[in-house]
Amino acid sequence: MVILPTQLEALVGALRDRGYLVVGPTVRDGAIVYDELERGEDLPTGWTDSQDGGTYRLERRDDEARFGYAVGPHSWKSLLFPPRIRLWQARRGENGSLEVEEEPVDGPPLAFFGARSCELHAIAIQDRIFVGGRVVDRDYALRRENVFVVAVNCFEPGGTCFCVSMGTGPKVEFGYDLVLTELLDGEHRLLLEVGSEKGAEIVEELSTRVADQGDLDAAERAVDAARGKMGRHMEASDLHELLARNLEHPRWDDVAERCLTCGNCTLVCPTCFCSSVEEVTDLEGAHAERWREWDSCFTIDHSHIHGGAVRPSGRSRYRQWMTHKLGTWHDQFGTSGCVGCGRCITWCPVAIDITEEVAAIRSTEEGGDARA
Ligand code: SF4
Ligand code: SF4
Repeated sequence: MVILPTQLEALVGALRDRGYLVVGPTVRDGAIVYDELERGEDLPTGWTDSQDGGTYRLERRDDEARFGYAVGPHSWKSLLFPPRIRLWQARRGENGSLEVEEEPVDGPPLAFFGARSCELHAIAIQDRIFVGGRVVDRDYALRRENVFVVAVNCFEPGGTCFCVSMGTGPKVEFGYDLVLTELLDGEHRLLLEVGSEKGAEIVEELSTRVADQGDLDAAERAVDAARGKMGRHMEASDLHELLARNLEHPRWDDVAERCLTCGNCTLVCPTCFCSSVEEVTDLEGAHAERWREWDSCFTIDHSHIHGGAVRPSGRSRYRQWMTHKLGTWHDQFGTSGCVGCGRCITWCPVAIDITEEVAAIRSTEEGGDARA
């Protein structure tokens, strides 16, 4: 079916009326970030983003598109796996007993408004990590349980996107309750497809018309055009073997000269999942809390075991990040750890580009110069 852009207001309203905290793209601090949407008007109407290695700029579009941009610095990871949470607290009773209270997860259910295909792949990867193994992460599972997803097919990929190379986009194929394709040729409208019963119930509250062949063809053309506009490309079919063969490649020294080991790439990455925990106690030993916060393979402490860090150099830390993400992630979880969203390229302060680093290593196997 088809809706007009004004119906996005009704869609946000219908979700809020059902008790969802609707989170979606909005303009703040010079970027398109994910925050609460109180109205459809909060969407970044008429904005686009210009992205490249180490740069991100908002620019005005010459139309009223609601989804005419790629992904920003935020990802849905912050909502399902928050940067810092208390896991539990314990109190000592007067008779010496210990009472442990797990932190409740009792906020409203979340509606993700405007999730892209690469992001749904990233959520599926984190689902595998947090709830798909032998040990289930209780906090993640509770936050994830009732998420409603309004997905969006991309028609304006960013300068650092390469989802086509990773087989993760731009067309949404799973993991949604509703999916929108914004159509800007002719009448401004959105193709709306339903992926679940919950989605179908919401659609009943909207003013829709049946999609005709022209709408379906226009949607196909929009996604096809996005496929042809990827800002980056990465040959991904043999990365596990390529990187395993090149653990002592001189390119690791080259990237270490540029890398600040700031960890930005891991924080913006929608699949990175490392965390650390710390305990805090009061002076009397009567109350203790355990907190979990995001960590990164770029911090020295992250690899600190029995007296020292096993990855003390920038070279070893960048190599760990990239070979895990693109190589050994396959051994551990059966997929790549990269969905081609481009965030680590855009938000790296010195513009280190994972696609360029892979290409440089590959080129030497093909007889090129790694530092070129
Ligand atoms: S690659 Fe870039 S973002 Fe990542 S740690 Fe190095 S300098 Fe920071
Ligand atoms: S490694 Fe970079 S491009 Fe790949 S998913 Fe993470 S942030 Fe996105």
